[in-house]
Amino acid sequence: MSAVHPNEPSFRDSVDIMFNRAAGLMDLPPGMQEKIRVANSTYTVRFGVKLRGQIMTFTGYRSVHSEHAEPVKGGIRYAMNVNQNEVEALAALMTYKCALVEVPFGGSKGGLCIDPTEWEEDELERITRRFAYELIKRDLINPAQNVPAPDMGTGAREMAWIADAYKRIKSDDINARACVTGKPRNLGGIAGRVEATGRGVQYALQEFFRHKQDVEKAGMTGTLDGKRVVVQGLGNVGYHAAKFLEEEDGCKVVGIIERDGALVNDGGINVESVKAYIAETGGVTGYPDAEHVRNGSTILEHDCDILIPAALESTINLDNANRIKAPLIIEAANGPVTAGADDILRKKGCVIIPDMYANAGGVTVSYFEWVKNLSHIRFGRMQRRQQESANNLLVDEIEAMTGKSFAAGKREKMLQGADELSLVRSGLDDTMRIAYQNMAEVWHEREHEGVDLRTAAFLISIDRVAETYKSLGL
Ligand code: NAD
Repeated sequence: MSAVHPNEPSFRDSVDIMFNRAAGLMDLPPGMQEKIRVANSTYTVRFGVKLRGQIMTFTGYRSVHSEHAEPVKGGIRYAMNVNQNEVEALAALMTYKCALVEVPFGGSKGGLCIDPTEWEEDELERITRRFAYELIKRDLINPAQNVPAPDMGTGAREMAWIADAYKRIKSDDINARACVTGKPRNLGGIAGRVEATGRGVQYALQEFFRHKQDVEKAGMTGTLDGKRVVVQGLGNVGYHAAKFLEEEDGCKVVGIIERDGALVNDGGINVESVKAYIAETGGVTGYPDAEHVRNGSTILEHDCDILIPAALESTINLDNANRIKAPLIIEAANGPVTAGADDILRKKGCVIIPDMYANAGGVTVSYFEWVKNLSHIRFGRMQRRQQESANNLLVDEIEAMTGKSFAAGKREKMLQGADELSLVRSGLDDTMRIAYQNMAEVWHEREHEGVDLRTAAFLISIDRVAETYKSLGL
């Protein structure tokens, strides 16, 4: 990533600047703006773990941005540059995100300053369990109050350790499994959670391309089919988003940016084979079917239709915003475009699908997982076979009445009752469609006041949080 421009605000200031732009267009009661904007609390913990013959001290955070709805929700990130400013910015984004996609949670976020690649699995487990203990004893992990999820550097494995740590401490809590989401399936996880954020990015783009008028605003025409995509970060979010767009929507992935440089091939790069290559070699260097560019971030400026930053915050900033060619950016990562870059890009006519919407697929399916854990039953278990027999009856009657048979493949599809995965996908698709339609409506109505998609998203979220505070009688 390029060095930070001296005029660039911090990540949290950047989120606040974008918040203020929207709040300035609203008629909020005195003091409400400030109440919503600030983080309620941020807990810093320093703990020691005896590893490799010495005590190693780690620093972690859990920030709670807003408790207008509880539990509060947000991922736990493992990265060396985790700090208070970052977790507070991410916690704020969680509040706005949940409000926008109507997930009934407040916003939170956590992080641990650690490079997970430097530790063996059993060491990481000990560190994670100790970090979890520090948060559990302060109710910063709790099914009714604060429910973490995976983020950068963490996944189902870490969530399983956290869930187990909670269960050991609170063994009489019947809802213990709901203390964290993104767990493996056998420990109360839900089908479709691993790929949910990437799937949500795909659904968001599909919905965008259903709105011809918005596609034209970005200076594009047609559908997703054939669109050239550049993705930064082939981790959980970037990999799934790029893979689904390539395999199911006909997009051509022309650039992949990773830690050790970028791959470029205007003829298209096979996402699955790059992922396998990274798993084998640890990076993209030497991948045979594309050109390797050492200074990877320059490929953010590559000629393409859709740019998907899916790695870090502030990667599109005052230094490179002017050179970005993509007419459409979808913020799969949190905060990849700084407030300054956002201004430059908007003036250029670039359409940005904002993070708080674009990557909301993860928290949406986390919400479904939490509901599943509280109800102690898999989605579809009661209805699936009943639905199948009703469908069977209907199809048989139609065939008897018309004297014609459905084609074999079609008949089977019509008979199928919904299983957990199809219900999760349907719930996620519905959520992404409705949230986009809400944003687009505000965007179109208030465009003359300078409202873009991001400001529209903030206007909707701030209004919903403010209404909750007003009803609560604050
Ligand atoms: P991840 O750790 O699985 O993947 C991150 C990827 O980015 C890795 O492949 C890493 O090698 C790559 N990367 C790191 N530094 C880079 C650099 N300088 N240049 C290019 N690539 C780099 O993380 P993730 O879960 O996919 O999260 C990515 C982003 O999406 C984060 O901003 C996160 O907050 C956001 N997000 C994640 C989820 C989720 O469900 N995992 C949900 C919402 C938002």
